Amino acid sequence: MTATDTVNPPAATPAVPAVPAQTRHTRPPRSAIKARGEQVTLATIIIVPLAAVAAAIPLVWNQWISWRDVVLATVMYMITGHGITIGFHRYFTHRGFKAARPVRIALAVAGNMAIEGPVIRWVADHRRHHAFSDKAGDPHSPWRYGTGTGAVARGLWHAHIGWLFDIEQTDQRRYAPDLLDDADMVRVSRLFGVCVLVSLAAPALVGGLWGGSFEAAVQAFFWASLVRVAVLHHVTWSTNSICHVVGKHPYKSRDRSGNVWQLAFLSMGESWHNLHHAEPTLARHGVKPWQLDSSAYLIKLMETLHLVHDVRWPDPARLAAKEA
Ligand SMILES: [Zn+2]
Ligand SMILES: [Zn+2]
Repeated sequence: MTATDTVNPPAATPAVPAVPAQTRHTRPPRSAIKARGEQVTLATIIIVPLAAVAAAIPLVWNQWISWRDVVLATVMYMITGHGITIGFHRYFTHRGFKAARPVRIALAVAGNMAIEGPVIRWVADHRRHHAFSDKAGDPHSPWRYGTGTGAVARGLWHAHIGWLFDIEQTDQRRYAPDLLDDADMVRVSRLFGVCVLVSLAAPALVGGLWGGSFEAAVQAFFWASLVRVAVLHHVTWSTNSICHVVGKHPYKSRDRSGNVWQLAFLSMGESWHNLHHAEPTLARHGVKPWQLDSSAYLIKLMETLHLVHDVRWPDPARLAAKEA
């Protein structure tokens, strides 16, 4: 793919063609209404969990939290987070291993439950990110506006959250034809709303039954639904923003991706992002023994249990050749 294949138009070009005079002052087209509706939904999905995080500190102070909430939030974080890292990212986007149909569907559902968009859209966006990383056409490069301090600050915001509101979306037929041709994946993508409901309601239901009261259900919803979603959102988006601005660059890559050890634990190994851009199809991103990568450990466990096969593990000779 060449730079001339850019999907996004240059910044100076309007994303939407000018409206012809005779069609002005008429009702906005259906697609525009839908796009606006999606943006309101997206803003709600981002702001409500974030507000919960802001409220969390005084609530912890007042001991409005129990071990039950911590366990539920951790379990939900691990299921939905690894749904993204192992499922959406290492499997569906980069084909780092192969899996049988039930595992494939389970991974897509777990990823949907992270509330970061339906599987096919997520994969299409991420493949476009790798096709153009940190160049024109990258949906979320922090270097979009330049290299000055103000430009990078603006770029960080764009790479972290702003890009999600871009009206122009990645062409899924071009970037994810394999998933569009897979009836299971089309169905799971369409069931995104149901997955969101389950992701938010399950902790409340389990918490309520476990604690035996309505307050226990509300408390579990707060911690294991809202706070958990917010933390996972911002950790995932930090890979797009922070890991393309700071970090170490031990391997050769075409972009500015860096390894950020501080995020390794919460990102489940995804913040070894320089290695990932150097060797995108590897199932393991933390390639050194001390580089924490819980996604890789789980893939290893799944391989041992024969749930996945043909895993692309790092090859020391190839890695040595990629060292910067
Ligand atoms: Zn990246
Ligand atoms: Zn990737």
